[in-house]
Amino acid sequence: MHHETPLISILVAGFVLAFLLGAVAHRLKLPPLVGYLIAGVVVGPHTPGYVANQQLGQQLAEVGVILLMFGVGLHFSVKDLWSVRAVALPGAIVQMAAATGLGFGLAWLLGWPAGGGLIFGLALSVASTVVLLKALQDRRLVESTRGRIAVGWLIVEDLAMVLALVLLPAAASVGASDHGGPDPLAAALGAAFGVELGLGGLIFATLAKVGAFVALMLVVGRRFVPWMLHWIAHSGSRELFRLGVLAIALGIAGGAAQLFGVSLALGAFFAGMVLSESPLSQAAANESLPLRDAFAVLFFVSAGMLFDPTIVLREPWSVFGTVFVIVIGKSIAAFLIVLAFRRSVGTALTISASLAQIGEFSFILAELGLKLNMLPEAGRDLIIAGAIISIILNPFVFIFAERLRVRIEGKPAPKPAAEPAAPSPEPAEEPSGAEPTALSGHVVLVGAGRVGGLVAERLRTTGESFLVIEDSEPRIVALRDAGVEVVPGNAASEETLTLANVAGATTLVVAIPNAFEAGQAIDQARRLNPDLHVVGRAHSEAEVEHLRGLGADMVIMGEREIARAMLAVLNEHGVAGGDAAGPPLLRPAPSTG
Ligand code: AMP
Repeated sequence: MHHETPLISILVAGFVLAFLLGAVAHRLKLPPLVGYLIAGVVVGPHTPGYVANQQLGQQLAEVGVILLMFGVGLHFSVKDLWSVRAVALPGAIVQMAAATGLGFGLAWLLGWPAGGGLIFGLALSVASTVVLLKALQDRRLVESTRGRIAVGWLIVEDLAMVLALVLLPAAASVGASDHGGPDPLAAALGAAFGVELGLGGLIFATLAKVGAFVALMLVVGRRFVPWMLHWIAHSGSRELFRLGVLAIALGIAGGAAQLFGVSLALGAFFAGMVLSESPLSQAAANESLPLRDAFAVLFFVSAGMLFDPTIVLREPWSVFGTVFVIVIGKSIAAFLIVLAFRRSVGTALTISASLAQIGEFSFILAELGLKLNMLPEAGRDLIIAGAIISIILNPFVFIFAERLRVRIEGKPAPKPAAEPAAPSPEPAEEPSGAEPTALSGHVVLVGAGRVGGLVAERLRTTGESFLVIEDSEPRIVALRDAGVEVVPGNAASEETLTLANVAGATTLVVAIPNAFEAGQAIDQARRLNPDLHVVGRAHSEAEVEHLRGLGADMVIMGEREIARAMLAVLNEHGVAGGDAAGPPLLRPAPSTG
């Protein structure tokens, strides 16, 4: 059956094993992605038993990359990208050069030819989009200043990769004259000007294609794509809307790759970005979310499939050197570069941690290097081992970076150069302010959006002792401007709840729409303070039950309250008379009474 339906087999094996091993990893307090990678190793060719189709795995992973980059584009405007250019552009270039140099040095020690060393070094210098974005998303950093710098940095690396992939075959053909013909566009341009294009011409042709794509997206796409989405939205069909979002993401990414030679990831990023200014961008993001998460899991499974665990025993020192360059060498380079741009230690550490891994681009480079006879087989194996090990280590690198940040920034007077006290040409850092509150006997409000914002306003005007836990940077700034104490962070984390002194609070109001996270927050808060009075927000009966099961004393279901208010209005107009204040709905309201 496996051979007849390879796609179904890989989907079934990939999802089922990733789920089981991800759940085991979670239980062991490891990041779930470690489980996904091991699932890949299990279905890969280097372990006994069922072997999934590797090529299909890589294509499915690519869909994950497209959807992730589309999602990032949706949260990113041209302005955001432009605002981080001063750090991201030189940062990425200098870091890539440093990492390539280190990789080249390692290859030289291993006795490889210069071309192989160059490809090896380049492969170690580019971070994986999926790993970086997942790390930022899990920590809710995508929209923070440091998150934007990291994404901008990634875009520059992506562009550099597009160039490298075009130039390497050309460089190889310069070395070995019998190699395949030049790029067709370069040839056409060359013919037009009556000259044969060399490397310089190729660079020009590649940049011209990327430029043409970006210009087309910013001029035509920016008008046409949002218009199309609005048009679909007006059809009133949710299904069509969802389909439209997917068609835009995949269609533009695929078209960009086919017509302009741009990477799929970059194409998808621009598709998202031209939509980001549309009022429907949030809805579009929500529609692509479940698919994005599913395919991101397949990315890790397919990466795991490439891994041959025996290399760690066969060539321990080479593997160690490779991982060292990726995790330590690149991090130190990025850290110093970011500090040189007068960003804070916290930003430098986050960016270093984000980039201390390699992934899909490196696999592509390794394959190309093999095909061009430039990279030895051992190079590919080391790149894959380095990728897997650095991806597994990445969550721990983040934890280490965070501890280091608290140590350095938490001290009363750390290195003055690291503080943004000196006049800086860059915009101010995002609020970090992870100090514990001095409040006790207070109210803790989670989320200050449409619901929590109104609650916060009332608590403020009545002079209540309270603070807000928020994870959206613009909201944090607005709240602080209004004189409200804020603990920035995700309320589902115990650390944030501790900083908000939930143990010493009287009341917890969880006013966020996501019942899963609300449940986590309530569960942890209850454990920290059994006497806490907990009020939750829900959108369905099932969510009400869920939150009550985890310890909420009272759960307000938004939809029911809207119905009540509507009935009250009708009542005022003499329609549907009766006791509108009571529970006139089909089911009693145990949660709100
Ligand atoms: P709304 O749905 O408009 O009431 O907005 C919800 C608010 O809660 C937004 O400002 C979010 O940034 C914030 N929020 C959502 N989830 C969390 C969370 N897990 N921790 C902290 N704040 C959150």
